[in-house]
Amino acid sequence: MIEVSKKCIGCSKCVPVCPFGAINMVDKKATMNEACNLCGACVQTCPVQAITITREKASSRDLSGYKGVWVYVELTETGDKGHPKKIKPVTLELLGAGRRLADELKEDLCAVLLTDKNHDYEKELGAYGADKVYLVEHDELFEYNTDIFSTVITSLVNRHKPSSMLYGATIQGRDLAPRVASTLYVGLTADCTALAIKDGLLLQSRPAFGGNIMADILAPSSRPQMATVRPNVMKAIEPVLGRSAVVVRESAKIDKSLRRVKVLERKIDHGTGAVKIENANIIVSGGRGMKTKEKFHQLEELSRLLGGVVGASRAAVDLGFKDKAHQVGQSGTTVSPKLYLSFGISGAVQHIVGMKSSDVIVAVNKDANAPIFNVAKYGIVGDAHEIVPKLIEALKKGK
Ligand SMILES: Cc1cc2nc3c(=O)[nH]c(=O)nc-3n(C[C@H](O)[C@H](O)[C@H](O)COP(=O)(O)OP(=O)(O)OC[C@H]3O[C@@H](n4cnc5c(N)ncnc54)[C@H](O)[C@@H]3O)c2cc1C
Repeated sequence: MIEVSKKCIGCSKCVPVCPFGAINMVDKKATMNEACNLCGACVQTCPVQAITITREKASSRDLSGYKGVWVYVELTETGDKGHPKKIKPVTLELLGAGRRLADELKEDLCAVLLTDKNHDYEKELGAYGADKVYLVEHDELFEYNTDIFSTVITSLVNRHKPSSMLYGATIQGRDLAPRVASTLYVGLTADCTALAIKDGLLLQSRPAFGGNIMADILAPSSRPQMATVRPNVMKAIEPVLGRSAVVVRESAKIDKSLRRVKVLERKIDHGTGAVKIENANIIVSGGRGMKTKEKFHQLEELSRLLGGVVGASRAAVDLGFKDKAHQVGQSGTTVSPKLYLSFGISGAVQHIVGMKSSDVIVAVNKDANAPIFNVAKYGIVGDAHEIVPKLIEALKKGK
C-alpha cells in the first residue's frame, strides 16, 4: 500500500519520476492512481519523506498468482564497430537453466529485455529457449543505469508477477538484482552454482562457509524467488534455429531525473589481446603438485601447443606460479571450456565449483583418491612431472 502523508508540500517532484504516469497533483497533494505498481521511484525522490509504501507481510500473501520463470537479458556495453549490442553468453546460459525449471513447473520461460533499440533479439532468445520476451524499448535505456533499470524491472515484476527471476552474477547483475530485491522486499541468493525445483519452489544452491559446505536455499514466502548465477556455471541449450519468442511490448515513461549517475566517459581496456580464461576453449591448469614455478612453466608450453590458456589453483597462485587472473574457482574465475586438463590439483570444492561444467575434464594426480577424479572424465594416476614432458614431446612430433 502506498500513502502520502500530510508532510506533502505539493512540490510535484514525484510526478515526472514515476515511470508509469501514476501520480497526479490533486489539491496540491500527490495522489496515486491505479497505474501505480509500488516501484518506489517516488519514495526516493520526495524531499520531505511524505510518501511511504507498506508491504504486506510475506507469510500473509497469496503467492498462487506468481507464474513464470524470468531471465534478465544482459547486453554488451557497446556493439562492435557500429553493430548492435550483443546478448551476453550468461543470458543464454540462464535461459538453458530456466528452460529446465520452467518445464518442470509447467510455466513460461520469459526473457526481460530493456533496450533503446530492439534488434530482433527475440529470435536469438527464442532459439535459446525463451517462450516470451518482455520488451521495454526506450531512449533512456541506451545503457545500463542502476536507478532506471531497477525501477523498470520492479514495475514489470509487480505487473506480471513471475515466480522466479534469474540474473547473471556479473557486474551488472550484481548491481541490479539486490536493488530490485530490496525494493520488492524479497530475498536474493547470490552466486548460485545449481538451481532445481523442490516441491514447486526454486531450490538455490551455493557454496557457504568458505565453500566448505553447499547451502540449499528456499524462499517459501516471497515472490519472485531471485538468484544470481555466475557466468559459465550453467549450460545453454542447443539453439533451435527458427524458434522465436513472442514479444510482449511494455510501455514505460522514464523521466531523465531518475538517472542520478551519469557516465561521462567510457574507456575500454582492450588488455594485451590474450584470450581471457573465462572464454577459453582449452585450459591447462596446474596446482601445488607442480612444485616449482619452473615446472609450472611447462604447462605454458603444453597449453601453447594445444592452443589453450593456462589456469591455476589458488594454492598455485599463492605460491606465485601464476597470477590471480588465472585462478580457477570460487574466489577466482568460473570456467567452462571444452577441455580442462588438470595437473597436480587435488580438487578441493572451491576449485571444483569453478570448473566442473567443463565439457571434458582430464586429471593427472599422484593420489588415486584425490577428489578431482570424481569430476574427471579421464583420470591418470601418475606423476605430472613425467607426464607433462611426454605430452609436450608427443604434440611436437604431431602425434
Ligand atoms: C574461501 C575460500 C575460497 C577458495 N577459493 C579457491 C579458488 O577459487 N580456487 C582454488 O583452486 N582454490 C580455492 N580455495 C582453496 C582450496 O580450498 C584448496 O586449498 C586449493 O584448491 C588447493 O590447491 P591445489 O589442489 O593446487 O593444492 P593441494 O590441495 O595441496 O593439492 C595438490 C595435489 O597435487 C598432487 N600432487 C603432488 N605432487 C604431484 C605430482 N608430482 N604429480 C601429480 N600430482 C601431484 C597431490 O596428490 C595433491 O592432490 C579456496 C579456499 C577458501 C577457504
